[in-house]
Amino acid sequence: MYCITIERRLLCKLTSSRVRATHHYSKFSLREREKEHVSHDLLSQPTNPVRSRFAPSPTGFLHLGSLRTALYNYLIARSTHGQFILRLEDTDQKRLVEGAEENIYHTLEWLGLSVDEGPQNCGTYAPYKQSERTAIYSKYIKKLLDKGLAYRCFCTKDRLTQLRDSARLLKPPTTASYDRYCLKHYSKEESDEKASAGEHFTVRFVSPHKYPTFLDLLHGKIDQQIQINPLDVRYEDPVLLKSDGLPTYHFANVIDDHLMKITHVIRGEEWLASTPKHVALYDAFGWNPPKFIHIPLLTTVDNRKLSKRSGDIDIMSLKSKGFLPEALINFSVLFGWSPRREYGKKSSEIYSLKELEKIFTLEGLTKGNAKVDFKKLDFFNKHYLGVKLSDRTSDFYNNNLDDIYRKLKTTLKMDSLDYHLVDRVLQSVGTALSNINELNTEKYWYFFVRPEYTLVTLLQHTIQDKDTVKVIVNELNERAAGLIPEKLSDTIKAIAKSHSGLKRKTVYQTLRYALSGPQSGISMHTIIDILGLYEVKQRLQNLADFVS
Ligand code: GLU
Repeated sequence: MYCITIERRLLCKLTSSRVRATHHYSKFSLREREKEHVSHDLLSQPTNPVRSRFAPSPTGFLHLGSLRTALYNYLIARSTHGQFILRLEDTDQKRLVEGAEENIYHTLEWLGLSVDEGPQNCGTYAPYKQSERTAIYSKYIKKLLDKGLAYRCFCTKDRLTQLRDSARLLKPPTTASYDRYCLKHYSKEESDEKASAGEHFTVRFVSPHKYPTFLDLLHGKIDQQIQINPLDVRYEDPVLLKSDGLPTYHFANVIDDHLMKITHVIRGEEWLASTPKHVALYDAFGWNPPKFIHIPLLTTVDNRKLSKRSGDIDIMSLKSKGFLPEALINFSVLFGWSPRREYGKKSSEIYSLKELEKIFTLEGLTKGNAKVDFKKLDFFNKHYLGVKLSDRTSDFYNNNLDDIYRKLKTTLKMDSLDYHLVDRVLQSVGTALSNINELNTEKYWYFFVRPEYTLVTLLQHTIQDKDTVKVIVNELNERAAGLIPEKLSDTIKAIAKSHSGLKRKTVYQTLRYALSGPQSGISMHTIIDILGLYEVKQRLQNLADFVS
């Protein structure tokens, strides 16, 4: 809970209820500050190799937001010939989710984001799983304790709750709650004795009176301070080590970024409020902090928080829904980044991972909320699907063919579905699909099962009365031999000519209805070509029977 300088001036004028609403680091304040400080030089592309990291907590499966964070970190490492590190931040044991760790590895691999150092492939700074680094954290906690920059807190849960409750009632409000009882009451020796006697404790950081300002390469200079009530001063003094002996996120994150020689930290804007604490810790150790870049939040097109409801499901679920890694990469790289003008000329916005590895620069990052428009994901998926299906000999094509064949057989309950027919359909309509699974929907079933006719859809789709339809169907039946792709247009023309007032379009519509029922979208030539003359005749006969 922070105030920033600009916000503080405003806070004085606000009522306390409004103040409560500004507890979170607000977008408004960011924008205000941006006007004052942003300098484009900050974002110039690093000239030295960048060591970046993706540091997920295995408390859930990877979603679009994490994909974007991982991707930007990956790309800045690749585009500067640096290293991309994966670090598992698993110290919050209570929140661990089963399968989440594997999901992280699997998702990154599937997306093609290769990791240079991480829990699975080691590296100079191993281990890369925070739960395996407790000895390292203890060593650094000791350093802070010895220097008097941290202290043990023996306060009970109840006392801390009371402090929080009383802090909430203070006017003017405060954003910190602890009263530093343990720092004020126990000498270092007393504290050591209590700890040796087995008393439970946490270790708190002696937070500075004023947090240091820092530079965010995207947002400029950041000056975030906690708000204090001068009549009842409370301290933030964040917990560094929990009573279970494990470090908190803030502490482990700083120690690891330093020891792992991380040069750039790219992470979501939600972490901006924590950064002053991190910078103060770097100062306490006398270390230089890495460069920070906090990227904007993902929102829906109408500016609401992205949620499961608005389509934000985990990446592996998107995979099973038929989305391709290339499409997801291309889709999410554009959430808050655009290529330099010389690369951005392409109107299609199609960028492969290989291409992005070369053209990604920090200058392309943008500040406003990043809108996620799932229609664009369909667009990218269609593009990559078409490209990948165009090679019939590829594993991709053949695996998808097997898969969709199996799915169709199950959905249509057909033991004897013709594999070659599915193959031909996939070849012919593959480029029209946004998603391979579309083939297993009503829209395409007519290729495999004869369509069902109903009077309502018949009249809707042929836009004719029943008698006219009857006449056309009879004509089509009589001239069925001419319904092969090469002769199709002549045959239709001839039928239209033989009945005054009959339009070619009407004949087409009737033929289409006979072949595909109410479904449209694929050219008649393609449909006839795939179904073959025998099947075309059968369907025309069926429609004739239906209308009579
Ligand atoms: N473990 C944090 C997360 O789950 C990482 C935040 C950071 O990148 O510093 O997102």
